Amino acid sequence: MELLSSRYVYDTNPHKLLNKLQLEMKQQVDDKVASGYYAFESVRCCVCGQRDFDLLSEKDRYGLWMSVKICQVCGLIQTNPRMTQAAYDEFYQIEYRKLYQGEDRPTNQIFYDAYLRGRNIYNYLQPWFSRPVNEYFVLEVGCGCGGVLQAFREQGCQVKGFDPGTEYLDFGRTNYGLDLVAGTLDDLVLHRSPDIIIYSHVFEHILDLHAELRTIKRALAKDGLLFIELPGVKNIENVYEGDFLLLLQNAHTYHFTLLTLTNLLQLHGFYCLAGNEVVFAIFSTDPSQTSREPTIQNDYSSVLSFLSNVESRYQVQQGLINYKNNRFFEAAEHFAEGVRLHPTNTQVRRLWAVTLMKMDRVDDAVKMWQTS
Ligand SMILES: [Zn+2]
Repeated sequence: MELLSSRYVYDTNPHKLLNKLQLEMKQQVDDKVASGYYAFESVRCCVCGQRDFDLLSEKDRYGLWMSVKICQVCGLIQTNPRMTQAAYDEFYQIEYRKLYQGEDRPTNQIFYDAYLRGRNIYNYLQPWFSRPVNEYFVLEVGCGCGGVLQAFREQGCQVKGFDPGTEYLDFGRTNYGLDLVAGTLDDLVLHRSPDIIIYSHVFEHILDLHAELRTIKRALAKDGLLFIELPGVKNIENVYEGDFLLLLQNAHTYHFTLLTLTNLLQLHGFYCLAGNEVVFAIFSTDPSQTSREPTIQNDYSSVLSFLSNVESRYQVQQGLINYKNNRFFEAAEHFAEGVRLHPTNTQVRRLWAVTLMKMDRVDDAVKMWQTS
């Protein structure tokens, strides 16, 4: 299996518009990777333990080198090889926020965006509450400046958050009086077990998910809920205009669908109470279910056929944009990719044929038309 399409070849070009600060940070990361200062490691699939992968992409949306693979045995997409924990620790401290947000400090806008996300999460979780809302203790891992928690506190929950980045914690503490502390779930001393633990756009950044899940299981109340939000692979048409490359960012070590996430969580006795491909998902360690043997369901074929369909549509759309702007050579390249991804799609073959006519390649055009 080759890359998803030719645009996933590593060519160092960013796939989105970057400001000056972002370009500086990209160069800095490129240099650290090229010199070997940021080290990489190959790992087994964290769900099935196998090493049989197909390569999907060699770059991320910033044009950074990123090896994105799909596991043939369970369908989990992962960054592999990936940077080591030490490399990621420095990356998060120095380049991450500047590269991703194009700013180097927390702002009211960042807090407010997180707050709106928090309201959505609250509404999603609320039907699963079995006690009055003010009895709930909510813990958020990787809370940033605490906007998500603000939405829960507003509803009457007791909240606490932690994050490694102290500057963001200070923002939420100073401006909103939130209980935010520096540290990790492991070294946190809690006066009571959280009823809800939230990971909002955090879980897909973690390297050792098994250790994380063991810690969550220890910390969470017996009837507690684990909520995970992350950018779902099968949701890219709603969030990233069907452009898989926009989903890819070097900070993400895993790229989940609801099924691949559920496969992993099951290994630790978590069962999915509700979930969708956004991904929004609620898990619990329901004791009545724990005797059930976890079964890994392979999402490989489903994920690959989804991605090649979406990629084919993306290529056709790009072909049409180029055609309308009289860039026939570029249009032809996109239609060719569309045909490669979907050889039996008559419409794409005809679009390619018409474009070849525009390029005065009449014989090729006729051949393409006749085989469509
Ligand atoms: Zn696997």
